[in-house]
Amino acid sequence: PETATDADYANIEAIIAHEYFHNWSGNRITCRDWFQLCLKEGLTVFRDQEFSSDQRSRPVKRIADVRLLKAQQFTEDAGPLSHPVRPQVYREINNFYTATVYEKGAEVVRMLKTLLGEEGFRAGMDLYFTRHDGHAATIEDFLKCFADATGRDLDAFALWYAQAGTPRLEVTGAYDAAAGTFRLDVAQSTPPTPGQSEKQPLVIPLALGLVGPNGSDMPLVLEDGTQVQDGVLEITAPRQSFVFTGIGTRPVASLNRGFSAPVNLSSNLTSEDLVFLAAHDSDPFNRFDALQGLAFALLKDGARTGTLPDPKALVEAARLLLSDATLDPAFKAQALALPGEAEVARELARDVNPDAVFAARK
Ligand SMILES: [Zn+2]
Repeated sequence: PETATDADYANIEAIIAHEYFHNWSGNRITCRDWFQLCLKEGLTVFRDQEFSSDQRSRPVKRIADVRLLKAQQFTEDAGPLSHPVRPQVYREINNFYTATVYEKGAEVVRMLKTLLGEEGFRAGMDLYFTRHDGHAATIEDFLKCFADATGRDLDAFALWYAQAGTPRLEVTGAYDAAAGTFRLDVAQSTPPTPGQSEKQPLVIPLALGLVGPNGSDMPLVLEDGTQVQDGVLEITAPRQSFVFTGIGTRPVASLNRGFSAPVNLSSNLTSEDLVFLAAHDSDPFNRFDALQGLAFALLKDGARTGTLPDPKALVEAARLLLSDATLDPAFKAQALALPGEAEVARELARDVNPDAVFAARK
């Protein structure tokens, strides 16, 4: 107690919760074989994340989890050890207690929840725990419970368990003032990974908002009159376009809210847009992410050129966020912390000069 920090207490609580939850996801329902490892680990990580989010601050927990995911799983997926959430082969199963099986496995369950909604997801989980209590289950058994409970075909979604690599989403937004529309072009791709040179398109839940000048979200109505359910677009093809109607003023797109999908997203948002989102987005994760985006751009530029560009936009975004009395201090601390050296190196991806990254951060 003399030296433990708040984070230490939170971590201890999370681990106790995780092992306790294994009573159900792991023990009462166990894995038919080791290939189903993420059925207990990914699922139980998801459950402990939800427990900690309910006990403490949901945005702060999400930020910490995404930071961990990117630091450990995204780097694993970008290198020679990249493997699917359900590996196809193993020599020694202890080698597969990995960030991919645990952390990406949890993200896959989270995406399922985002796609099915709170009620559908709960119905599927309840069915899984009743139907398979005392059984040795498979990932197919797990998914079938959600399909049966909601009537939804999850065959295409199941590819998340078999395909390795971090997908890329390139999103381009364009406002048409005359037509009162906002068009979003989305392109998805997954880079090749060892043993998987060809990749298929995935089902990606992209949570988003179009934030108006006063900071509130605009209604998301597509050209054919359909309202976007819960603000989640389903990306299923290599290229898709969405045209939102009834948009009176240029909005700022808040993309992948809450980090709804574990992807590398790039967009044509400007630094002014990011300052605006840091100050106004109703999604706390994206307020954090907007600030981080500004910081990453500066630090990457600084590390490449040796001179730091004007940090005016970052300072302004930090000022606006800091002066918001509704935000809790733990959230502000996360949002205002500069990305670490390893995070900047990951974003640079190649030709990393550690001295230059250090100097830029300083
Ligand atoms: Zn576990």
